[in-house]
Amino acid sequence: MLSSSQDSQNGTRSTADEIIVHSPIDGREVGRVPAMSRDQVQRIAQELRAAQPDWEALGTRGRAVHLNRWRDWLLDNDRRLTEIVQRETGKVLGDAAGVEVPTAVATLNYYVDRAQEFLADARPRPHTPMFATKKLRLRYRPYQLVGGITPWNVPLAMPAFDLIPALVAGCAVLSKPSEFTPLSWTAAVRGWEEVGNQPVLACAIGRGDVGAAVVDLVDMINFTGSTRTGRVIAQRAGERLIPCSLELGGKDPMIVLADADLERASSAAVYGAMWNGGQACVSVERVYVEESLYDAFVESVTRKVRALRQGPEQKPYSSDVGAMANEAQLQIVERHVDDAVAHGARALTGGQRRPGVGLYFEPTVLVDVDHSMECLRQETFGPTLPIIRVRDAEEAIRLSNDTPYGLSASVFSRDHERAERVAERLEAGAVNVNNVIVNGFQFPVPMGGWKESGIGARAGGAYGIRKFCRSQTIVSDRIEPAADVNWYPYTPLKGRIQERALRWFGARDLRRRLGLRPRRRAR
Ligand code: NDP
Repeated sequence: MLSSSQDSQNGTRSTADEIIVHSPIDGREVGRVPAMSRDQVQRIAQELRAAQPDWEALGTRGRAVHLNRWRDWLLDNDRRLTEIVQRETGKVLGDAAGVEVPTAVATLNYYVDRAQEFLADARPRPHTPMFATKKLRLRYRPYQLVGGITPWNVPLAMPAFDLIPALVAGCAVLSKPSEFTPLSWTAAVRGWEEVGNQPVLACAIGRGDVGAAVVDLVDMINFTGSTRTGRVIAQRAGERLIPCSLELGGKDPMIVLADADLERASSAAVYGAMWNGGQACVSVERVYVEESLYDAFVESVTRKVRALRQGPEQKPYSSDVGAMANEAQLQIVERHVDDAVAHGARALTGGQRRPGVGLYFEPTVLVDVDHSMECLRQETFGPTLPIIRVRDAEEAIRLSNDTPYGLSASVFSRDHERAERVAERLEAGAVNVNNVIVNGFQFPVPMGGWKESGIGARAGGAYGIRKFCRSQTIVSDRIEPAADVNWYPYTPLKGRIQERALRWFGARDLRRRLGLRPRRRAR
């Protein structure tokens, strides 16, 4: 029985006890999950903590057996999982099939294959001969319980991407998917249980309050979502003195220099802005084009956007742009476009919610826009592409950096060296040269935002797994006399020996090493 009911943000009906998920494509119910109470979340956290020591004790090889079993299960169930993703998000097959399960699998393989190397003890040499007799060992010990809170735009790949490294590291993981899209990730977590893996991965299901409970219960929190919620989480993490890693929103610029390959740049802009219905943190949210290429670029982009197919797919891969995942997000897109048009911008194609059933916003190209408009100041997170004419690269760089965000960016030019010089001046965590979005899938390098786009990063080779560990230093002695020279009692002889040794190793020239006075300068 449902105890009470309320309207959820996407216009669907959920209750205090249950989250009912409706398809953004046609509004039909696609599934329901129980909304947990704080007490339930607390119990799950306790169970995870109880299971973690055995998981850690398995070591990287032992854990790999479980993780590989899960990988095989994900691959064996990829069709079903992809369908669930599509039903709860409204995304087209092209956006779901190449990313959701494949990213989970690729993340798992990357970290399982390298866990031994990334988590191996380090044995650095002492930094000075004064400590030559010391043996230094650096260990990586996992946090016992890691919390992961993720958004609705990539509901299976995102928690997998964020949290698989924590499992590989030996942590237990309490994962909170978005209330809008809880079905695919909970199905994947059921798969973890189905293959008989140790009970170190569980979901906390509910709304924002359940996310807040997760932050209260874990030893480290990994959050992906909006900058607004990221701030709330960072504050609570600060109060609890637990580390947090925040992957937040973006307003990614694309710079098109005059010598860019027009065909490639315009196709990339369209893909970068419309992929996943524009609901990607690394979406191209604005384009700055050098004057001499501007008209041709706008014409090419507009033609390509008009050719995009949008709507429910009658057969696989028959549509390019899917629905918005929820009504609230669609309204943000509507507001940004309406604000731009009200202030003098033109929508060369699209510009409105698609009439009829479903949460669709037409793929939209905006021109005559400027930085006073919402569509250039705030993250839109929808299928829109504002294009701005600039005098030169200097103006493009200045405008690109004129934002509180700094997630990623792209630069297009036939001259790679010049493009990289421009890239180096952008205030963003990553820059793609002659491409878009791809930085997010390069596991050996970090994906993290500057400024209000985040703290920390995901991936980044060894960093991506070590961030879920506490470093532990073990210092031991090769020689153990009755007492070290600096221990009590202090004596003039020991003091002199110590002073001279410290001076000898600290100075970088013979005179100071020997403690000789400086020569007086002749007047
Ligand atoms: P939100 O910040 O609204 O929500 C993200 C998650 O946080 C959801 O699971 C949400 O739960 C939960 N949450 C909400 N309130 C709280 C709270 N007080 N304490 C703890 N958890 C809470 O983001 P969206 O879901 O709207 O996602 C879109 C945003 O995510 C965009 O800004 C996008 O740029 C960003 N993003 C960033 C990425 C990156 O790598 N930098 C990648 C992908 C997206 P519920 O949904 O149930 O309310």
